[in-house]
Amino acid sequence: MTTSANVDPQELAKFSELAHRWWDPESEFRPLHQINPLRLDWIASLMPLAGKRVVDVGCGGGILADAMARRGADVLGIDLATKPLRVAQLHALEAGTTSVAYREIAAEALAAEQPGSFDAVTCMEMLEHVPDPASTVQACAALAKPGGWVFFSTLNRNPKSFLFAIVGAEYVLRLLPRGTHEYARFIRPSELARWCRDAGLDAAATRGLGYNPLTRRYALNADTSVNYLVACRKSA
Ligand code: SAH
Repeated sequence: MTTSANVDPQELAKFSELAHRWWDPESEFRPLHQINPLRLDWIASLMPLAGKRVVDVGCGGGILADAMARRGADVLGIDLATKPLRVAQLHALEAGTTSVAYREIAAEALAAEQPGSFDAVTCMEMLEHVPDPASTVQACAALAKPGGWVFFSTLNRNPKSFLFAIVGAEYVLRLLPRGTHEYARFIRPSELARWCRDAGLDAAATRGLGYNPLTRRYALNADTSVNYLVACRKSA
């Protein structure tokens, strides 16, 4: 597979179709709005954002990209879905977020154009939507400066994650539209760890993300069995 083909048009279409509701905190994107402060604080606790050059890969409507810019980072959000990017741009204008920019470009292509240019790379809830996630991990590593940070989040693959992330989230609690996630594309932490090592990234920290359906709240914890985040550093 060539790097430029590392995209599934059906996946992009799903996100484009819903794009106009991206910034509605009660929409299909409620989970992203709810987890955003948690992941933002976690990122900032490892790497203070002020003055940092950050690229957010698979930024969608810009929920994380915008928040990192508001914490003082100079952020470039990239995605291959046109509508979410337009929504992200419009939101930045409306919210007056000046240190964020958006571009429709693949991670692999940006890595070829601007290798080793970013203090940090974030790639959240995106790897489970691409055909060749190892290629995306390679590109994220290539985008980071030596010693830079690379953050990923995705869904684990095991019977519990099938039950919670698909049956629970899409069918029972209806947190996400049906068909949002495909079980076969979920990624075990060991698989992500191998792709990171192969790309010259050293794992620095891992967190689980749990959801309590009674309180309807998310929290970071040590349980990586469903949703999890990994922070890596590129070898200096
Ligand atoms: N990272 C954002 C959005 C997650 S939704 C957040 O966590 O808030 C997943 C995003 O991945 C969508 O915006 C979708 O368009 C994007 N995406 C899917 N395949 C992609 C690809 N091959 N290249 C870039 N972005 C992709």
